[in-house]
Amino acid sequence: MNIAIIGTGYVGLVTGSCFAEVGHNVICVDCDEAKVKMLQGGGIPIFEPGLEEMVKKNVAEGRLNFTASTAEGVEQSDVIFIAVPTPPLEDGSVDLSFIERVARDIANAMTSYKVVVDKSTVPVKTGEKVAETIKRYCKTDCEFDVISNPEFLREGFAVEDLMNPDRIVVGITSNKPEAAMREIYEPFNAPIIFTDINSAELIKHAANSFLAMKISYINAVAAICEASGANVEEVAHGIGMDERIGRRFLNASLGFGGSCFPKDLSAFIRISDDLGYDFGLLKEVQKINAAQMDRFLKKITDTLWILKDKTIGVLGLAFKQNTDDVRMSPAIEVCQRLLKDGASLRVHDPKAMEKARELLPAEGVTYVDDMDRVAEGCDALVVATEWPEFKELDLAKARDAMTAPLLFDGRNLFDPAEMAQLGFTYKCIGR
Ligand code: NAD
Repeated sequence: MNIAIIGTGYVGLVTGSCFAEVGHNVICVDCDEAKVKMLQGGGIPIFEPGLEEMVKKNVAEGRLNFTASTAEGVEQSDVIFIAVPTPPLEDGSVDLSFIERVARDIANAMTSYKVVVDKSTVPVKTGEKVAETIKRYCKTDCEFDVISNPEFLREGFAVEDLMNPDRIVVGITSNKPEAAMREIYEPFNAPIIFTDINSAELIKHAANSFLAMKISYINAVAAICEASGANVEEVAHGIGMDERIGRRFLNASLGFGGSCFPKDLSAFIRISDDLGYDFGLLKEVQKINAAQMDRFLKKITDTLWILKDKTIGVLGLAFKQNTDDVRMSPAIEVCQRLLKDGASLRVHDPKAMEKARELLPAEGVTYVDDMDRVAEGCDALVVATEWPEFKELDLAKARDAMTAPLLFDGRNLFDPAEMAQLGFTYKCIGR
C-alpha cells in the first residue's frame, strides 16, 4: 500500500516505520521542518528501543520517506493516517485544532479517492467533523472515506507493540475502506475489530481511562497498606493472580503521568459531561492520582523538615522507563515541587536529560551523567522513574557519598529489607 502519515511524532514515526518494515511504501509528513530535515539526514528525534535501526533500514531500502509537505504526502498515497497531537485545553477538553488543520490540508490536496484514517486520540464523533471539514474544503469532487483506527502503543515499547498488537480497532461507516485496512494490517497477524466510528473512538478513551483507574486503585490500596502495615506488593500479587483482574497495571507508585493518561482521562470526563453523564468514578481516579503525588512529597518533607539548602538526588526524569518523553512526567513534577520548596537537585536519567532541560529551570539543577555519582553530597535520594538500570545502582557507594543515607523510592524498585541492611532509611509506596 502507499501510505502517508501526517504527524511524525511518537505515534506517527513508529507507525510509519513499522508499516514500511512489513513492506508498505510510507511517506511521513510533519510541519516541523527541522524535524523533517533531521529525519532526512538520518537523525531520529525521539528515543524508542529498536526504532533507529528500523528507520535507517527502511529509508535505505527506499520504503520510508519524509516531507514537510502534506500535499506531497496526500498525492503519493492511497491511505492517509492522521497522527497529530490532541492536547488538553485548560478545561480538560481536547484541542482539536491540529486535527482540523490537517483535515483542511488533506482536502486542499486531494485529487482522487483517499481513505483518511484518524489515529490520533479524539473524542467520540470527531470522525464526523473531519468528514464534514474535508467535504467543505475539497475543491475537486473526489470521493473519500474517513475512518478511525486508534493507537494503543506504549511509549518505551512502541515498536514491539506495533509489530505485535493485541488487537487492531477500526471504525468504519462503509465497506469500501475495509479492504485497504485488511491489506495494511494483514502482515501483523493480529485480530482486527471492525466497528462503527463512534465506538472505535470511544474504545480508546475508555481503555486509557480504565488503565488509569487500575493504577489509582492500587495506589489507594497502597495508602491502606501503609496505614495497616500490609504490603501492597503481596496484595497486588494476590489479587492479580485472579484472571479476571490480572497483575498488570497494579504497581503502586507516585502516580501516573505522561502525554496520554492524564489528558485522556480528563477528556473522557469532559466528553461524558457534554453527553449528560457525570463520570464521578473517573474524577475520583484523578483525585487519587494527585493525592498520591502529595503523599509521596509529604514523606520527603516530613523527614527532611526544611528543604531550603538541602540537596536531593533524583533518579529518573522520564514519565516511565525506556523513553525520553518528559511530557506530564511525575518525575518532573517531583523536581519542580522540590525546587519550589528551596531544595537543589542532582538529577540523572538514562535518556531524558536533554528533554528535561526544556522543562526544568536552569538554576538549582545539576545534570549528572553517571548515575552512581548522583548521590554525592545529597541529603536524600529519590527514585522517580522505574528504569531497570537503577536496580544496578552501587548502593553502598551512594550511602557513603550522602550526608545521611535516606532514600525515597517512588517506584518500589528496591527491597526494604536489603535497604535496611545497608543502613538506609528507606521509604517507599505501600510497603
Ligand atoms: P507528538 O507530539 O509526539 O507528535 C505529533 C507530531 O505532529 C509532531 O511532530 C508535530 O510537529 C506534528 N504536527 C502537528 N501539527 C501538524 C500538521 N498540521 N501537519 C503535520 N504535522 C503536524 O504526538 P504523539 O505522542 O505521537 O501523539 C499523537 C496522537 O496519538 C495524540 O492524539 C495522542 O493522544 C495519540 N497517542 C499517543 C500515544 C503515545 O504514547 N504517545 C499512544 C497512543 C495514542
